[in-house]
Amino acid sequence: MNEVLEVRNLRSGYGQVLILNDVSFLVRNNEVVGIIGPNGAGKTTLLKTILGYLKPWSGEIVYLSKRIDGLNTEKIVSLGIGYVPERGGILRTLTVKENIELVTGIFKESSEKLRELRKLFPIITERASQVAGTLSGGEQKILSIVLGLLTAKKLLIMDEPSAGLAPVVRKKLSDLLKTVATELELSLLITEQDPSLVADLADIVYVMERGHLVRSGKPEELIRVEVLREYYLGF
Ligand code: ATP
Repeated sequence: MNEVLEVRNLRSGYGQVLILNDVSFLVRNNEVVGIIGPNGAGKTTLLKTILGYLKPWSGEIVYLSKRIDGLNTEKIVSLGIGYVPERGGILRTLTVKENIELVTGIFKESSEKLRELRKLFPIITERASQVAGTLSGGEQKILSIVLGLLTAKKLLIMDEPSAGLAPVVRKKLSDLLKTVATELELSLLITEQDPSLVADLADIVYVMERGHLVRSGKPEELIRVEVLREYYLGF
C-alpha cells in the first residue's frame, strides 16, 4: 500500500470559528511531506485535528486505509502515529529514563522500539538519569522526538521541530531526521514557519495560508518562490 495518510476536504476549528477549510493532501510510504506557512495559518490546528485533539467539522482522515477521524488521541497514537509537538512533549521534572518509561508504560508495544532507538540516539542511555529540564534545547528536542518515535510505526508528525534551535543545531536535526526516516522506514509530516529544514528534507511541500493549502510542489521550486514573494514582494 502506497498511501500512509490521506486527508480529504477537512474542515476544523475552535468553537464557532472555522480555521481549516477544505484541506486535502496525501502522505505516501517513506515520503517526507512539509507544510509551511506563516504564524496563525492553521498548521498546528491541522496536526491537532489529525491527532484527534480536535474533532473535525467535516471531511475524512484515513491512515493505512482506516478512517481515524472521530477516534480519540490515545487510539490514534496506538495505531502507530508518533507526534512531536512544537513545545513541550517532555515532562521537564522527570529524568530522561522516566519520560521514556511513561510512554512505554502506556503503549506496551513501544518497548520493542526502544532497543532500535538506543542505537540511533545513544544520548537516551548516556543521560538516562539526567532531569529532562536540565538538557540543552537541542537535547530536549531530541528527547521529544524519541518519545514520538516510540509510537511511530509508519508515520511521525512533527510541529515546527526547528523552532528555537540555532542554525547549526537545525542542520544536525535535519541530518538526523533523514537517517531516522530511512532506518525506521517512516513517513514524516512536518510543519514549519521557517522553510529551511523542510527545504532540506521534504519530497513535497504544501503552502498553508489562512487555513487553506494554496500551493504545492518540489521544495526547490516552491521555497524559492516563497522566499522571493516574502522578501521582494512583501506578500
Ligand atoms: P504558528 O506557526 O504561529 O504556530 P499555526 O500555523 O500553527 O501558527 P494555529 O496555531 O493552527 O496556526 O492557529 C490558527 C488560528 O487558530 C489562529 O488564528 C489562532 O489564533 C487560532 N487558534 C489556535 N488555537 C486556538 C484555540 N485554542 N482557541 C481559539 N482559537 C485558536
